[in-house]
Amino acid sequence: MIVMLNGLLWLLRFAMGASIFSFFQVVACRLPIGESVVRGRSHCPGCGRVLTAAELIPCISYVVQGGKCRGCGGKIPVRYLGMELAGGAAFVWCCWFFGREQGGGLSGSGVISPAGLWGFLYLGILAMVALIDWDTRVIYDRFHIGIVLLGLAALWLFPEHGLADRLIGAAAVSVPMFVLALAVSGAFGGGDIKLMAASGFLLGWRAVVFAMFVGLLLGGIYCIGMLAAGRVSRKEQIAFGPFLALGLSASLFWGDAAVGWYLSLL
Ligand SMILES: [Zn+2]
Repeated sequence: MIVMLNGLLWLLRFAMGASIFSFFQVVACRLPIGESVVRGRSHCPGCGRVLTAAELIPCISYVVQGGKCRGCGGKIPVRYLGMELAGGAAFVWCCWFFGREQGGGLSGSGVISPAGLWGFLYLGILAMVALIDWDTRVIYDRFHIGIVLLGLAALWLFPEHGLADRLIGAAAVSVPMFVLALAVSGAFGGGDIKLMAASGFLLGWRAVVFAMFVGLLLGGIYCIGMLAAGRVSRKEQIAFGPFLALGLSASLFWGDAAVGWYLSLL
């Protein structure tokens, strides 16, 4: 019985994460086109039909409908399903990861710890940044501000990092990026630089350096792949934000440990 209830709790957590990321997906769609994110019911971008309650159930509705709108039969981008699955997984993972220290782990009580919610919200912001940057090559300042606010909360949630580590983190990657952008025009966008400054404040210097390393690696692999496939030309610019967001997401969990391990080798 207890096992079953515990299972239900984890299912509930997954559903919560999926629903919240589903909303973030709507935000990422509507912000660039200037639509309100709070007013206006969810609708099909193809035919404008307002979605029914059943169609709003994350993940399941997409599968039941076969990825198509019931009104116009238009394809629902698979990104919707991806965001919902990612949100569910992120919520469950943050619950588990940030619950360990409090002795929570897999049997943790409550829906999510404050630290878990903090991590989940950071991942949510990164997901929106990645989607919008991918579509429009713009990262909005409101996301940077959100990250700084989470960084201030981190001062209280993770006091072991301290203010000095966070201030160094804010500059560790963003300043070199800024200098490089001055030297080589178009090397990095202003939004990318601000993202790494705000995230450095949130993560501390070790994790933000690791995030940059992962971002450059993934972005580099992507570029080489696209060049090899002839899908982009050498002159074309790609959105770097999604790769930085992936690096930052990984770094939230493993950045400190990875850099600590690397430093121990020196
Ligand atoms: Zn439709």
